[in-house]
Amino acid sequence: MLCERCQEREATCHTTTIVDGIKTSSHLCGDCFEESAPLESREAAAATRAAHCRYCGGQPCIGGADLLAMITGEPRMMFLCLSCSTEFYRFMQEQAQRLPQDSSRQEQLAAIPVLQDEVDRHMQQWVSRSGSP
Ligand SMILES: [Zn+2]
Ligand SMILES: [Zn+2]
Repeated sequence: MLCERCQEREATCHTTTIVDGIKTSSHLCGDCFEESAPLESREAAAATRAAHCRYCGGQPCIGGADLLAMITGEPRMMFLCLSCSTEFYRFMQEQAQRLPQDSSRQEQLAAIPVLQDEVDRHMQQWVSRSGSP
């Protein structure tokens, strides 16, 4: 896939953000990503390059606040490669829908550590099944 900004180089930085339940993706080469990103994200990009995918240990493409962090309101970084992040978001969305909609915030917060465990377990199984990277 080519970088969507310069259309010249291969896109290596794939970021996904979820705002109000809407998923937006952007695909940029390293140079354009660094140019377009605010300082904060540039630091995040540098951190991403030094990090490893949380689940398969491969080269991470995403350093993003995770979905759980969005529920708890405590953003934290996690690093995922492209294939793990796709599966991660798919699974998280599925799990998030299972949270009772009419439960109180406190109940939702209480459910999160359980959810986190389930996601981790699912991802580890998924990685060993798919044999990635
Ligand atoms: Zn570019
Ligand atoms: Zn991975």
